[in-house]
Amino acid sequence: MNNPLTKDFKSKFGLPPFEEIKPKHYLPAFKKAIADHKTEIELILKNKEKPTFSNTINALENAGSLLSKVSRVFFNVLSADSSDELQKIAAKATPLLSKHRDSISLNVSLFKKVKKVYESNEDLNDEQRRLVKITYDNFMLNGSGLDSKKRALLKKINQKLSSLSLNFGQNTLKETNAFELVINDKTDLDGLPKDLVNQAKLQAEKENYKGAWLFKATRENLYPFLTFSKNRNLREEIYKGYINKGKNNNQNNNEKILLEMSNLREKKANLLGFKSHTDLALQNSMAENKKNVLNLLDNVWKPAKLRAKEEIDEIQNLIQAEGNNFKLKPWDWWFYAEKVRESKFNYSEEEMRPYLSLENIQKAAFAVAERLFEIMFVPLNNYPKYHEDVKAYKVLNKSKKIVGIFLTDYHARPSKQGGAWMTSYQDQSKNNGSKFPIIINVCNFPKSKSAKTTLLSFEQAITLFHEFGHGLHGLLSDVTYPSLSGTSVPRDYVEFPSQMMENWIRSPKVLEEFALHYKTGKKIPKSLLKKYEKCQKFNQGFATTEYLVASYLDLAWHSEKKKISNIEKFEKNLFKSLGKPDAIDSRYGSTYFNHIFSGGYSSNYYSYMWSEVLDSSAFEVFEKKGLFNKASGKKLKKFVYASGNSKNLMDQFVKFNGKNPDPKRLLQKRGLI
Ligand SMILES: [Zn+2]
Repeated sequence: MNNPLTKDFKSKFGLPPFEEIKPKHYLPAFKKAIADHKTEIELILKNKEKPTFSNTINALENAGSLLSKVSRVFFNVLSADSSDELQKIAAKATPLLSKHRDSISLNVSLFKKVKKVYESNEDLNDEQRRLVKITYDNFMLNGSGLDSKKRALLKKINQKLSSLSLNFGQNTLKETNAFELVINDKTDLDGLPKDLVNQAKLQAEKENYKGAWLFKATRENLYPFLTFSKNRNLREEIYKGYINKGKNNNQNNNEKILLEMSNLREKKANLLGFKSHTDLALQNSMAENKKNVLNLLDNVWKPAKLRAKEEIDEIQNLIQAEGNNFKLKPWDWWFYAEKVRESKFNYSEEEMRPYLSLENIQKAAFAVAERLFEIMFVPLNNYPKYHEDVKAYKVLNKSKKIVGIFLTDYHARPSKQGGAWMTSYQDQSKNNGSKFPIIINVCNFPKSKSAKTTLLSFEQAITLFHEFGHGLHGLLSDVTYPSLSGTSVPRDYVEFPSQMMENWIRSPKVLEEFALHYKTGKKIPKSLLKKYEKCQKFNQGFATTEYLVASYLDLAWHSEKKKISNIEKFEKNLFKSLGKPDAIDSRYGSTYFNHIFSGGYSSNYYSYMWSEVLDSSAFEVFEKKGLFNKASGKKLKKFVYASGNSKNLMDQFVKFNGKNPDPKRLLQKRGLI
């Protein structure tokens, strides 16, 4: 069979030969890879010797390498450059994969071997011992300890859940593209930034709207529109287009899907001996249980709500002062918050934009990593890519040895899922020859002639640093076993290395050095930096509230016992019990909450805040000792970015930080105390 996916990747640096890979190659490659993996598992089972780390755990680590390779290529391209054809393949491949995964995780003979190693006194090093425990726990959490009847039921539930979750995500994407706000009258563009108008023009041309501007229900279109459009009715229209995703009366409706998912998840948790999906999902998390999660959320909720009420009053006063007589609604928030910011601080985030070209921000990100971790990013010229926007860099250490490959795919296009993410084509490992990581960052920044003229909002600059932080977590990984590599850590830890990086682009010193005017090359004016510094805690009541409400919503879906049948009522009751202000909505509504219904964050949306406690505590070290303090950079690399999941994560944190994380730092950072 001549399938480029199943052959060794001979292209430069082991990158997949994207130009040769056609959609028709995926399904046969999946089937072959699954068959190979099965054979490898059979070999482990057939081994008559006493189960050991080497013939069981390490053998499991090495099994399925082709499947991992094929899956990474397919799912990365599916999210970054999708098509109807690829989505159809995904619908066929997902149940196969889920069935296959279950055939391993629910394999009793295999589990018996793992259990023997787990219970043995074999002399192992720390990383090996941790891997044994994690492997054993995973088998248990996947149901290997159950009797055959229950295992069969679990298999059914898993398969159903994985296709429901895929449908949910695909419906959200379809709904995002289906919504259209068409503007024909130029005066209706009043106030909108040039970039957004250009993008809307391109979108309109693509869909054959002559002489018009087309806006979609993406976050990338929504937020600048809500912030700058002077037309209140249009703001309401695009906002509603966004929040109604997944609950419109059409074939993309997600309501039934998510109700079924939440029921099935509960059933699954019960089967495994847990009261709720949340209890199951928090096993092996840093937070450990729901009580600890709620403790953090509740502690932040009160001060956040108080601050949000002050912000609401300020905005309402401004509305009145302008001679208007309406009550502040959620779709008004961005527009008026921006006005309050301007009137209070004489500062608009738009003033920053000319200094935040994609080129500048990327240079800043690379420089921060180079100074902290003594690595270098060298651009590659010829390499395979799935889309012309993909750029590639070789990452080298001090002695010019290769650390990994870093790819970027920064620009928005209709074939790309919304949001921003990091994934890998290969994880770092050393148990089967040395493998270096191949990491990609995918974002949805607007496209312009060049990186020099692509101007980012401050929020987008932070996104770039955030994903770059995940990227470094993958790139700097230095462990032996692939399942413990890089970002393979609990959800409530994984956002720590990424949010940690955000601290540098927020630092005035970094902005002073790297935020240069895209035309003149002049430094960002001191006066603008001062205003920016004063504004850093602005609007945090709103930001914290909308995030916390989404976290509570996530927990409610997955830990409340009563049967839910009406989604709107369920949401309303929850919001009422929280005392949520009417003018602020949950950051995501249930019917398009991809994180929890198609992205693996179910019961884990709180993780961003948990990680923020870690990063705000850890950054204190650099505030005290200097932004690029060499010794602290070395420690940060060793204890945070390099160790993957090979060691106890709280111990690692304390080794870097010198003390436990302090939740007060988060409240201070957000200006809530
Ligand atoms: Zn992240």
